[in-house]
Amino acid sequence: MLRRFLTPLTAYATGLVALTTLVGCAFSGAVVGPASAPVDGKVALGRLLDGNRRYAAASASSSKPLAAQRAAVAQKQTPFAAIVACADSRVAPEIIFDQNLGDLFVIRTAGNLVDAYALGSLEYAVAHLGVRCVVVVGHERCGAVGAAVSGGHAEGHVKALVEAIKPAVARAKGRGGDALEAAVIENARLTAAKIRASKPALSKLAGGEVTIASAYYDLDSGTVRVNP
Ligand SMILES: [Zn+2]
Repeated sequence: MLRRFLTPLTAYATGLVALTTLVGCAFSGAVVGPASAPVDGKVALGRLLDGNRRYAAASASSSKPLAAQRAAVAQKQTPFAAIVACADSRVAPEIIFDQNLGDLFVIRTAGNLVDAYALGSLEYAVAHLGVRCVVVVGHERCGAVGAAVSGGHAEGHVKALVEAIKPAVARAKGRGGDALEAAVIENARLTAAKIRASKPALSKLAGGEVTIASAYYDLDSGTVRVNP
């Protein structure tokens, strides 16, 4: 299956000039049809951050050509990045990165955690959809991370979320500054580290480099900054 996918990729490798044109179109918010080759991971990250700058500056495309884009991607999806974000209603990736239908492959769980289902989804995105950029987005005032920081009792499956975030809280301890913000940053970093360490490696599935980054979304300013 993977081999069948990789063969067309090699064939498309010479189409990078055409791809650059497509990426250029996306910057201006134009409708973009399915790309014929994967977008390089670092280029994809830049495209996300450019979209976030538009959003944070309140210059996001307020009237996206949704119907046209729906038609353009109905037969085939070629998202240029995968986002692992919190399920929090305020951090919708398509909105905060100013993207459209078909642009982002999104996985959302409270506390932006990844389990076997999420990792399998990412493997699919890389191996079959050509994604070369994965960004884990933590955010300001995250309730799930907040619950782990406060150390209170959690019931039901929420307990599993809190337990999974505790290592990040422990790593963030004693770093000074805002305890919740530090824990959110560590939690996103740890999720990114888990994705990097997962087998089969995404880079192996891609047959080349996959950019895996973590970031912090500021609810007040609307800005996303990549964690160092
Ligand atoms: Zn959250």
